[in-house]
Amino acid sequence: MIYLDNAAGSFPKPPQVARAMAESLAEYGANPGRGNYRLTRRTAAMVESAREQAAELFGLSDSSRVIFTAGATMSLNLAVQGMLRSGDTLLLPGMEHNAVSRPAAELEDRGVIRVRQLLADREGYPRLNELERELRAPQRPALLALTHASNVCGAVAPLDEIAALARQRHVPLLVDAAQSAGLLPLSMRRTPLSLLAIAGHKALYGPPGIGLLLVDETADPRPLISGGTGSRSEERRQPRDYPEHLEAGSVNVPGIAGLAAALAFVREIGIEELCGKAMRLTDRLAEMAGNIPGIELYLPQTPRPRLPVLALNIRRRDPAEAAALLDSRYGICIRSGYHCAPAAHRALGTMEEGCLRFSPGWFNTLQEIEQTGRALAELARG
Ligand code: PLP
Repeated sequence: MIYLDNAAGSFPKPPQVARAMAESLAEYGANPGRGNYRLTRRTAAMVESAREQAAELFGLSDSSRVIFTAGATMSLNLAVQGMLRSGDTLLLPGMEHNAVSRPAAELEDRGVIRVRQLLADREGYPRLNELERELRAPQRPALLALTHASNVCGAVAPLDEIAALARQRHVPLLVDAAQSAGLLPLSMRRTPLSLLAIAGHKALYGPPGIGLLLVDETADPRPLISGGTGSRSEERRQPRDYPEHLEAGSVNVPGIAGLAAALAFVREIGIEELCGKAMRLTDRLAEMAGNIPGIELYLPQTPRPRLPVLALNIRRRDPAEAAALLDSRYGICIRSGYHCAPAAHRALGTMEEGCLRFSPGWFNTLQEIEQTGRALAELARG
């Protein structure tokens, strides 16, 4: 089997991730913050240390503002629903995942907010002049939600430039880093962001079911859910203190243990090395695919920042059929269709049929890529 769907969820996971999860279940995983005996104290220490690791990796000074969620979708829902109020405008630059577009549409349909949806350029990058115009408009948006890197074609938005513009105009910036966290350096200390949404199970190599929302001091979203926190239990309302303000209910202890091991793995190998290897594999596949007649690649004409995600179509072949053949004939696992991001397909011009997406990761080899290139050549020949 050749697994090339790391943008959906990395596989395999580093063995230490599975070990840390199993250990939390077998040896200590009591409910942190819900009692004061040695097992809860040990679990709480692990959870707080994971929070500190995440704060350190993503440059957030106050680790209590690292919120554990069930994944990037929940982080983004928390941010969008928690930040916007009646009559607000949400600005979307054009490569959004449904994890942003759908909560936005829901609020819009209920008449709570207005969504200003821009179209990214044909290569999947935000149009900066339009974005700037919207940010400078007299009735500026109440939130800008930016996809840092596209899960469809890997295009990386110029985050520093956009963050500077947003901060200048006092517009809070929510960054969807589901794809980029673990592959690109991200520091809330260096780049003025308000909210950073992260998936644990993609390029951080953590387990599914765990994500993060990092909240800068300039932002204070309303909770998405309320409930027990193990603190201030006599109060009627959700406590104002972080992280409890945004983190109701028992936390996902094995998920957090796995994520902590994954963050240590990322730190040990290094983001540059992780991205560099996956990018070299992606570039090799792009080179092979580019030489195959009948294959259309969705790549920038001139070099622009990208992540290890390659989008393409084989002419005369439906993407779903091509993906099924890659699996059944060659054991190659990839994703086809719209990848939950219709806005991106509108920009790339692939709205009719979607596309095939290949996303190599740290555990892939050059040999696997060469095999995939040959399989593509056979499929394109018919
Ligand atoms: N945003 C982007 C850009 C994504 O690629 C994904 C997952 O595919 C998500 C959000 C949702 O992430 P999760 O699966 O962690 O909920």
